Parts: sequence; structure tokens; C-alpha cells
Amino acid sequence: MRNQLFINGRFVNAASGETLATLNPHDNSTITEVAMAGKADVDAAVLAAHKAAPAWQAMAAMDRGRILLRLADLIDQHAEELAWLESLDTGHPIRDSRGLDVPRTAVNFRYFGGMADKLQGDQIPVETGFLNYTLREPIGVVGQIVPWNFPLMFTSWKLGPALAAGNCVVLKPAEITPLTSLRVAELLSEAGLPDGVVNVLPGLGHIAGQYIAEHEDIGKVAFTGSTATGQRIVQASAGNLKKLQLELGGKGANIVFEDANLTAAINGSAWAIFHNQGQACIAGSRLILHERIADEFLERFVALARSVRLGNPLDDTTEMGPLTSAMHRDRVLGYVDVAREQGGDILCGGKAPAGALANGCYVEPTVVRVKDWRDRVAQEEVFGPFVTVMTFTTDEEALQIANGTEYGLGAGLWTNNLQRARRFARDMRSGMVWINSYKRVNPASPFGGVGKSGYGREMGFEAMREYTQVKSVWVNVDAQVPPHFKR
Ligand code: NAD
Repeated sequence: MRNQLFINGRFVNAASGETLATLNPHDNSTITEVAMAGKADVDAAVLAAHKAAPAWQAMAAMDRGRILLRLADLIDQHAEELAWLESLDTGHPIRDSRGLDVPRTAVNFRYFGGMADKLQGDQIPVETGFLNYTLREPIGVVGQIVPWNFPLMFTSWKLGPALAAGNCVVLKPAEITPLTSLRVAELLSEAGLPDGVVNVLPGLGHIAGQYIAEHEDIGKVAFTGSTATGQRIVQASAGNLKKLQLELGGKGANIVFEDANLTAAINGSAWAIFHNQGQACIAGSRLILHERIADEFLERFVALARSVRLGNPLDDTTEMGPLTSAMHRDRVLGYVDVAREQGGDILCGGKAPAGALANGCYVEPTVVRVKDWRDRVAQEEVFGPFVTVMTFTTDEEALQIANGTEYGLGAGLWTNNLQRARRFARDMRSGMVWINSYKRVNPASPFGGVGKSGYGREMGFEAMREYTQVKSVWVNVDAQVPPHFKR
């Protein structure tokens, strides 16, 4: 198990010698002590990245892509090991790590490996006698700061387009889940990545993360995490006006109309909130039900929530594991108190399970019917298996509730009325809309939000644009002499 910093192609201790234990959220036991990067380590990684940049950028795009394709194959070959490591470190049920996290990581790297040689500029019609064309150039050295909810998958969302576009990277995983990104760094070397192109620095957010955001020699920061941290990064990045890409929080609206296929909507809504213990920025955490179907929907949905199999993430039959840290579990349970104080009705869950799971970071699937859609628990990102339920009678009311948050990342609706579906897809203030489904993600489809959910897009060709800058080149093809100041 790799537990040191990865700088310039080698695993090294932090300059300060500092480490932090990474814990197994199933029982809070220590998995291993991991080196914690400080400012000196960030400087060393940035220097290594700058040294590696000229040769990396000069490499044929197809060859850069080939390294990512080889990495994807290596991830497939080490699938079981990576799934185990991810489940151990994050609490993801092993069937999700095996069935989703690992294969999606390989697919994302493969997609961007194939994209590397598809980047092209334009030829622009300008005045006669001149040729104008654009080059899409890499930014140079980019910082990437990722959270703890999908640490393995996010290595592919972040590294894939950055490397395909020819950038060098300093990536900081979350301090509580560093293990799979360190293993990916090692596999990248095995795939043939030159030293220094990717550096992985586990470290604390307010020290290593903050310094990456401030660093004068980093041209861009791509961040996924909370809105509050995103705002801090905006301020810290002002010194050299670095480019930012922010994928922040969400409070996904999930509307079920009276004409929906209820069975599909119930199953889809459970997936929307309970997958990954609700720790997803696109989780469908606001269930907005038409009055006429609300009672039947809730009876069946609550029965489903009660039947979710909580357990050790390494057990094949587990459907929901622990939250990723004890601190986060306490934060989520704190929202149960807030819901009660505001008159919310806890229809199920609302507590940690007793018995064998009591030492872990578990929270039971929780369904809360709120009094008002403006209540705190229906507005703030809880980031747990915690769904707030509200009802509506008219389409206008549904839209008002759906758009009534400061976030705008993912949103879903369930209806068989095509006109209504199209209208809501247009009018919902959200970066992504799912009709009769929820939380679909594909490496080819742009992913990102509006409002306090951030800006910039991951995935697809949009992501390649985010990691490049455009240069406009003018060629005087007819060797014209400028008309002014002619002598
Ligand atoms: P966070 O935003 O603080 O952490 C995410 C990443 O940012 C981590 O790598 C962290 O080390 C780093 N970071 C922290 N402070 C930083 C700073 N000042 N400068 C630069 N980097 C910094 O999230 P958290 O504290 O781990 O979780 C708090 C809440 O954030 C969650 O409960 C949830 O609501 C939200 N969250 C959202 C997402 C998402 O995908 N949208 C992911 C994780 C957490």
C-alpha cells in the first residue's frame, strides 16, 4: 500500500516528516499512516511539473493518449485490488467499487486517451491576404484538488483531460482518502508516464490545498468539493489570476409528477439519494412529489429505504456502507436534529445503527418530510443518506421549489408528458437534467453546475477546452506591406 508523496516519479516522505492516519470508516481503525505534504513539498512538485512540461507538451498527442489507454488497461488488470482499496478507505460497498468506481475510472481514462489527438484549432475567415488560425495549447502546470466521496473516479475525471491536453499536474487528494490516487500514480508510471508529469500530494486542505490555490507557478486549479472551500480557492487564486474550474455542492431536485411510472420513480429516487451513502454532489436530496401520488410513493419509498442492507463495505451483499468519516457522520446526524427543530417528520432512519455497526460511521437511510421547502435541511447540502420530501399541486409550484436553492448542479423529473418534460428541462436552473432517470454520468457528456454549484465543465470535449487556452495566429500570406506609416 503506497503511503508517501509521489513527486517527480518517486515516492518520498514529506519534507517535514509529518504523517496523518487514514482510517477505515467501518470501524475507525487505522489503515496506514500517510505522508502529509506541506508548502516545501508543493514547491518541489510544482518544480518537477515545470521541468517535465516541455517534453510532455512536445510529445505527439497520440503518444500521450497511448499512455492513458495503457493506464486504463492497467486499471482493468488491477480492478480487484483497486476496488478493495477504495472500499477500505472510503466505505463504498465493494459491489459499487467493483461495478462502478473501478470500471468507470478505466472508461474515463480510455475516453480521454482517445481524445488526446482529437484536439484541433480553427481556421477563421479574415480579410483577404491573411490566414488566421487558432491553436489549443495546454495551460502548463495545473493544480487539482479532489474530495473524499469518489477519490478513485475523480483521478480519471481530473487527470484524464488535463494529461490528454498536454498539461502537467499537481493533484491533492482529500486527506482522509489518499490511497487509490497514490496507486493510480504508480500505475501511471508503469504505463510509461514520464517523471514529474503527475505529482500526487496527500495533505491538509488549509495547508497544501490552500498553497496550491495561491501558487504563482500554477496556471489553473480544478477543484471539486464544498462551496465554502470553492469560495476560499477563488480568493486564494487572485494573486496570479489563475484559471479556475469549480465543481461544488448541490441540492438536487427530484420531481415526481402524478403521471409518472411510480415503480421506476421510486427505484430511481432511491438510487439518487442512497447510492454512495448520499455522498454525491448530484444526489437527489430534495424529493418533490405531486400531492396526489405522495402517500403511495412515500409508503413504498420508505419501505424500500428500511430494507436497504447496511453493512461492512467489504461484504459482497452490502448495499450501503458507512459514511467516509466520523466527523461527517456527526455532521449528517446534526441535520436530523435541525429537521426535528423545524418540525420535520422523520419517516425513517435519522440515527446511527446499533449493534455490530455502532463503532463505524454508519447512518441509516433517512427520509424527512419537511414543513416548508425553505427549511434549512431542504436548502443546505447534507451529503448523506438523507432525503427531504416536499409536495406540490401545480407545475409552477414544482418549478418554484426545484429552482428555490442557491445550487444548480443535477436535477431530475419523472413524467410521461413529453411537453412537460421538455419545459422543465428548459426551465430548471441546473447544469444537468435527467428525465425519467437520475444521476446518469458518461465521460462524453458535460458535467458541471450553475449558481453556487460552480462553473466550468468536466467530461466530454468541454473538459478538453477547460484544460487549454486558445492562441490566435495571423499569417500575412500575400506579404502585404502595412498601409500606415509607409515611407
Ligand atoms: P472540502 O470542500 O473542505 O474538501 C474538499 C477538498 O478540498 C479536500 O481535498 C480538502 O483537503 C480541500 N480543501 C479544504 N480546504 C481547502 C482550502 N482552504 N484550500 C484548498 N483546498 C482545500 O469538503 P469537506 O470538508 O471534506 O466536506 C464538507 C462538505 O462539503 C460536505 O459535507 C459536503 O457537503 C461538501 N462536499 C461536496 C463535495 C462535492 O462533490 N460537491 C465533495 C466533498 C464534500
